[in-house]
Parts: sequence; structure tokens; C-alpha cells
Amino acid sequence: MGLEITDLQSGYGNIEVLHKISLAVDDGDYVAVVGANGAGKTTLLKSISGTVRAKGGSIVFNGNDLLARPAHKVPQLLIAHVPEGRQIFPELSVYDNLMAGAWLVKDKDQRAQTLGEVYDLFPRLKERSGQMAGTLSGGEQQMVAVGRALMLRPKLIMLDEPSQGLAPKLVTEMYQQLAEVHGLGTSVLLVEQNTTAALKYAKRAYVMEQGRITMSGSSEELRGSEEIRKAYLGI
Ligand code: ATP
Repeated sequence: MGLEITDLQSGYGNIEVLHKISLAVDDGDYVAVVGANGAGKTTLLKSISGTVRAKGGSIVFNGNDLLARPAHKVPQLLIAHVPEGRQIFPELSVYDNLMAGAWLVKDKDQRAQTLGEVYDLFPRLKERSGQMAGTLSGGEQQMVAVGRALMLRPKLIMLDEPSQGLAPKLVTEMYQQLAEVHGLGTSVLLVEQNTTAALKYAKRAYVMEQGRITMSGSSEELRGSEEIRKAYLGI
């Protein structure tokens, strides 16, 4: 069980961006998809959450056919998406941004409990709960985006370049916080141009080039690969 993608074809209008991609994120897995600018990583996550309609192949999550679902019904399966560029609500408070992630959670006690867990993970957000989110630093805004996704209590959290625009120290912090989330049983699928960070924290990874998966393996294997070291790690 988990996420299973088979021969996925997807793109925009008549332009195919993903050419028969297959990958899996097992229950409890931590998977990274790495690749250069324009490889199709964002398109992959959008195809899973349904905001880009796939043209062929299949995406199944815990036995549910995602391609048969409109985008707004994907979160019901407890899949959360932290989009590229965060896309938080800049004029709402931190608290209201977080609560927006819990729109599907009807149980008030559960919402309060999850909020407490998010504040434990990101104490900074608790301190700044009343602050307008658009006035936070980049790192804090990324915490809001991740925290908002966690308010769903997702089984699978998908992140689009969580390290983008963050100073190296904050990249490390963000990945340590994600490791905690993963440690509590959430499956993680992330896409990254920052191959070094991705291969440091994920258990397994896929390399995507021009809409195709060209390599996959454990992060350790990929870190040791001559090709990866030259092309992506600059070693
Ligand atoms: P980046 O890291 O720069 O975001 P990426 O690997 O996530 O890159 P995508 O954003 O998925 O790549 O883009 C893959 C290809 O799809 C690119 O050639 C891009 O120009 C194209 N593309 C993305 N969005 C659209 C769109 N809305 N309409 C048409 N083409 C698009």
C-alpha cells in the first residue's frame, strides 16, 4: 500500500511533460525526486494532487484511483501538498493559515491537538501565531506552509522544494523537522533541486531528467554513484 504511479503521462495542453513515469512511495517511506530545473518535478506533484490532469497511466493511493478524483477530493485521502513557493495566505495570521489546513477536520478536539503538535514542532509559529503571515521571514513562511499541511494529519505529505530560498542553516533545520514528521509515521514525497539535502535525508530517491526517471535507488547508493556525484553533487 501507499502511493503507486505507473506509466504516468502528464503535461499542459498538447505538451507532454512527464513521459510514462513510474514510481512508488510505500507506507512510511521517505522518497525524494531530484532533477534539474524544468525536469517535471512540480508537474509530478501537481498530477498527484490533481491540479494538473494526467493524460495516461495510473496513480493509486491506498487502493484509491487518484485520476478518477477531482483535485478537491484528494485531501480526503489524507494527502497534503506543500506547493512550490509556499503559497500561504499573506494577509491572514499564522493561526488562521494553520487552521486553513484543517478545513476537512471536523473534530474540534483533534484540530486543537494537532495545532499543539504543530506548535511543538515549530515553536516559532506559536510565538507568532497572531502575526500576519506575509510579514514572516522566508524560513518562518516555509514553517507555516509545512504546518498547514500537517493540520490535515496527512498519511502522505508532498513537498515541492522545501529548501528553496532558505539559508543553509534553515535548510538543515527544515529537514530535521521533516525527519521528525516522518518519524511519527507520515510518508514523505519531496521534489528537490537541492540534491545534497534530498539525498541526505530521504531513504530512497529517483532522478528525473526531461520528464523521465533515469535512475533510482537508496539515497546511499545514489550518493555513491559517479554519475550523480558529477552531475548533481558537484563533486
Ligand atoms: P523547477 O524546479 O524549475 O520548478 P520542475 O522540475 O519542477 O522545475 P516543472 O515545473 O514541472 O519542472 O516544469 C516542467 C516543464 O513543464 C517545463 O518545461 C515547463 O516550462 C513546463 N510547464 C510548467 N508549467 C506549465 C504550464 N502551466 N503551462 C505550460 N507548460 C508548463
